[in-house]
Amino acid sequence: MAEEKEVKTFKELGLRDELVEACENVGWKTPSKIQAEAIPHALEGKDLIGLAQTGSGKTGAFALPILQALLEIAENQRTVPAFFACVLSPTRELAIQISEQFEALGSGISLRCAVLVGGVDMMQQTLALGKRPHIVVATPGRLMDHLTNTKGFSLGTLKYLVLDEADRLLNDDFEKSLDEILNVIPRMRQTYLFSATMTKKVKKLQRACLKNPVKIEAASKYSTVDTLKQQYRFVPAKYKDCYLVYILTEVSASSTMVFTRTCDATRLLALMLRNLGQRAIPISGHMSQSKRLGALNKFKAGECNILICTDVASRGLDIPSVDMVINYDIPTNSKVRIISIEWEERLVQGELVLQSH
Ligand code: AMP
Repeated sequence: MAEEKEVKTFKELGLRDELVEACENVGWKTPSKIQAEAIPHALEGKDLIGLAQTGSGKTGAFALPILQALLEIAENQRTVPAFFACVLSPTRELAIQISEQFEALGSGISLRCAVLVGGVDMMQQTLALGKRPHIVVATPGRLMDHLTNTKGFSLGTLKYLVLDEADRLLNDDFEKSLDEILNVIPRMRQTYLFSATMTKKVKKLQRACLKNPVKIEAASKYSTVDTLKQQYRFVPAKYKDCYLVYILTEVSASSTMVFTRTCDATRLLALMLRNLGQRAIPISGHMSQSKRLGALNKFKAGECNILICTDVASRGLDIPSVDMVINYDIPTNSKVRIISIEWEERLVQGELVLQSH
């Protein structure tokens, strides 16, 4: 049997020259595994289920085929259709990141994106919708808000729906909005569903809204990098803060994420660490959107080197490298533990400290 030729370039995946060039411009030299496997099926018009996590390149895996379809339609019809694709994300930060990747890849073709997320003025978003964007990236609640209240806005022309981080889109907060959205968008469409984990609810959603999907798995489930060191400290509850400070000062990590269970704990720990001279910053669902983005940017830029977060910051965020992850609280359910494990994949030479009490 002839040996299968390994696909090496974006061009070989079937992407048009404009998009190959766009990938080069954003610094992507070769397709990631999920891109190499997903893009050819997507270009054939198939629905997709991608089991992939942040860092796998999954955004490119769904954005590039959508952009290619837009380009082809624009060429045939000489107009670029508005409200062509909608991407649903469970968090505001992830939605903004997805839109940034679309805009970067679509910069050569004058792509317009609108981000519809909570915590931001509805009016501003209504104005963005008035510009008839090609791509809408949204959290489910705010999208439903606009579909109900923004005059003239509908997704009746939608051709592509992406459900990103589907496992998290299916929690109680979003399930109702998601059902409502699925009821008002066209059934004739392509659907891509990406999820880090395959839960019962994701399987149900897949049956409800995908047609003969191709399943692609990007990484072995919950694997960790070889160089990762994992440790736990079993300490008395009343000395937990003390141990945390000890670890933060003793381990020479240039960037650390500390996961806590509650929003209050993020604030208290950040205050304590700042008083002790550490460059810590909290991020949680209790903060305004602009503060959340500000905190994230300070951490990414290295201005602060300790990010104290609840699970709002744990998934889908594109933080290039983290040296150490500390689970300050044992997550109450195993799924949250999985969330933290994703960070292990991002660690280069990292050290994970699981602290118990
Ligand atoms: P994602 O998993 O989509 O959130 O992407 C994580 C990061 O990988 C982002 O910073 C992307 O810009 C980057 N990325 C995506 N695809 C590629 C690629 N083929 N080559 C290099 N970097 C990539």
